[in-house]
Amino acid sequence: MRHLVCLTSSLIACLFLFSSIASANEELTKEERLEARMSYYIKYENLTLPWYYLAAVDQFERNIQQVRTDIPEKKGVIAIQFPEGKWAGVQNPNKKDTVPESILLFGGIGRDGNQDGIADPNNDDDVMYTMAGYLSQNGNTEKDFKKALKNYYKRKETVNQIITIARIYKKYQTLDLDKHAFPIPIEHNFSYRGTWGASRGWGGHRMHEGTDLFASYGVPVRSTSYGIVEIKGWNKFGGWRIGIRDIHNVYHYFAHLAYFTKEIKKGDIIEPGTVIGYVGSSGYGKKGTSGRFPPHLHYGTYKYNGRTEWAYDPYPSLKVWEKKDREAR
Ligand SMILES: [Zn+2]
Repeated sequence: MRHLVCLTSSLIACLFLFSSIASANEELTKEERLEARMSYYIKYENLTLPWYYLAAVDQFERNIQQVRTDIPEKKGVIAIQFPEGKWAGVQNPNKKDTVPESILLFGGIGRDGNQDGIADPNNDDDVMYTMAGYLSQNGNTEKDFKKALKNYYKRKETVNQIITIARIYKKYQTLDLDKHAFPIPIEHNFSYRGTWGASRGWGGHRMHEGTDLFASYGVPVRSTSYGIVEIKGWNKFGGWRIGIRDIHNVYHYFAHLAYFTKEIKKGDIIEPGTVIGYVGSSGYGKKGTSGRFPPHLHYGTYKYNGRTEWAYDPYPSLKVWEKKDREAR
């Protein structure tokens, strides 16, 4: 009887501990949340799979959960979640199977990471152990990792987005990369309005997807986030334009530049505030066309949700970044 009481009280203590961890997770500061995530990535990295690959997959999953209505938002430290068939095995009659042996038998990828005898898709250790094993199956190069990603997600845009996140994490060796900058240094004169969806004059009935920031020729244009230069060159609408992809599945588009910063090349990893080019009025014609409209920066933002990429209004973010830059001055 005494033993039973002991067991019961330790069980209660244990449950209490668990629930306090669970509720603490919602009250964590940003730093604590990032630390908790990083500890899982470090715990489950291995010789063939450095932490930033695991971090990139987790961040990608977090990004898409924020904008997709057909997949649930996973609670907990780790955002990675597996479709039922994938975890338990497509042929498995028990879609919620957590028995490692039968999951293996039915070809599911679910594994038991914390060695409690259960392969639980809601347990962060089991999830990380499973994903790390899956992604390191081909070998230790970026090519091998890409192959495993393609096999898992099927889409090359998804592979590109995850590789982008991984390279940025690798370069800065931290998860804390949410800093932003207003695209125009605030000591310059500029003006912009929320004109989302207004029609525009050239190139047929295209909706205006973005915000126009009017400023003089030659005013510097800066990256608004950490990211990788994905596109740099001429486009008949955007003129001299640059596209930068960040760790939030967002593609930032800067158009009508007069010229670029010379040193910036496609594939470069850059920071918020890095000068990428200068305000101009290029575009709306063949290569080199300029001066068909007043000089301005056209800034557009596009979010990738794992299936498609769509434009969303950058105006509210611009307002926030402008205010922050003014305060920091
Ligand atoms: Zn515009």
